[in-house]
Amino acid sequence: MTAASPLHELLKTHFGYDSFRPLQEDIMHSALGGRDTLAILPTGAGKSLCYQLPALAREGLTLVVSPLIALMKDQVDQLSASGIPATFLNSTLEPDEARRRLDAIRAGKLKLVYLAPERLMGGRFLETVRSWQVTALAVDEAHCISEWGHDFRPEYRRLRELRAALPGVPVIALTATATPRVREDIVRQLGLRDPAVFLASFNRPNLHYLVEPKKDAVKRIARFILERGQDSGIVYCQSRKRTEEMAAALRHAGIAALPYHAGLDAAARARHQEAFLRDETRVICATVAFGMGIDKPDVRFVIHADLPKNLEGYYQETGRAGRDGLPADCLLLFSRGDVMKHVGFIQEIPDDEARQHAHAQLEQMADFAESDACRRIDLLGYFGETWTEENCGACDACLSPRETWDATVEAQKLLSCAIRVRQADGGDVGLRHLADILIGSRSEKILAHQHDRLRTYGIGREHPAAVWAEIGRQLVRKGWLAQESGRFPTVAVTREGMAVLRARESVILTRPLASAKTPTSRR
Ligand code: ADP
Ligand code: ZN
Repeated sequence: MTAASPLHELLKTHFGYDSFRPLQEDIMHSALGGRDTLAILPTGAGKSLCYQLPALAREGLTLVVSPLIALMKDQVDQLSASGIPATFLNSTLEPDEARRRLDAIRAGKLKLVYLAPERLMGGRFLETVRSWQVTALAVDEAHCISEWGHDFRPEYRRLRELRAALPGVPVIALTATATPRVREDIVRQLGLRDPAVFLASFNRPNLHYLVEPKKDAVKRIARFILERGQDSGIVYCQSRKRTEEMAAALRHAGIAALPYHAGLDAAARARHQEAFLRDETRVICATVAFGMGIDKPDVRFVIHADLPKNLEGYYQETGRAGRDGLPADCLLLFSRGDVMKHVGFIQEIPDDEARQHAHAQLEQMADFAESDACRRIDLLGYFGETWTEENCGACDACLSPRETWDATVEAQKLLSCAIRVRQADGGDVGLRHLADILIGSRSEKILAHQHDRLRTYGIGREHPAAVWAEIGRQLVRKGWLAQESGRFPTVAVTREGMAVLRARESVILTRPLASAKTPTSRR
């Protein structure tokens, strides 16, 4: 190697690393050049270094805003251990201790100060900050500032005030999640000026994605874990109660498992987390409260026992597997019932735009689960990234393509049923209702609309309603049915759908998950 640059030298002496990870050095140069910088790097890519190292390289103090108090202490401890003068300020400190730290800052003894966003409250604190020699502002987990992200924190909006209190101080914003929309929102909310944007690939080549229909979830999960020797992993569940039940059931199956959720007291949470980090328990059954900032490199599997509410959450949670770069498995158990549960929650959101947004995100999540396309293409596509390889070699769709079948007759039945309903009463109906007509259901809604008199009533008794609904969703994905979003999305046959029907084209679909046979249990 040629003479090491100053940054390389700092990297080696303070952090003990020989080389930078992709984009780290470019990001640091941008930040050191005084330009506002937005860095979007997947979890584990090494974002912290992107502001920690420049803090050493420049004069003055770097303020770091970070949402997690627990994480803050860890980071500061690590920095102190590497001989980097750093501290944090948050609401957990005794007044004396807080004063001591403020004195050290004022005396210019520190290079990095971590702030909890709740500290940003109040003009007096901003006054104090103004008196320090702040030369950079780093905003970690910057997506927390956006309502369109998965982890909106209203306190983050106060960053504008901090920013205003420090005119001319360059900002570096970092996040592991940003759809294009969230990205724009970060720039706008933080008031970044002509920022340099660094966007790493979100592909995690060592993660293997797998989606299965949810049936006998606990048994399936236990088997999945037992097949993996002593490997440890996370089972994400929708509710606190479910995490407890899941952990108990897994223990019953001979697997060391503990629950983790925000309802446990702090001591229990810390204990369970420690046990997991130290491999004293193999499995942690957790709500989404678990994971952010947990740096366990050898998580070998992440299982979603229930459907996440959006793809961003799914990506983040699965992203906690395989941070060491070695292969890891991500299993999602999918059911329409879970979709409906989320719809129930979403219905409670009072704000119209937010509710519609949540609906759209849920639909994307469900589409992802039901799709027969490469998981990687779908997932990366969601983050605006194009994946061009034909076979990713590490997802269920690429490794074992779902069985296809000739669904010509089914498609014709379903499309003509949709047309009949509209002709009969102009009725706006959803897939579920169409399915009910096809199977000849005597539900109240069918009888009330006299849909039992339609010619297509009961012509689809060969399949259960769930299969018809899934066939319908496949036709939506093909663009033959148009579906509006909302609590009760309605469908209409498109022009392309009409053409297919008229031409009696043969229709090949993927075998619906709802009818797929789950592997028989070995236990
Ligand atoms: P992120 O915040 O992007 O999820 P972290 O900053 O926590 O990632 O870094 C993840 C891990 O990678 C940490 O253990 C960190 O010390 C390590 N790391 C960061 N940069 C490098 C590097 N250049 N070389 C080796 N390891 C690195
Ligand atoms: Zn694939």
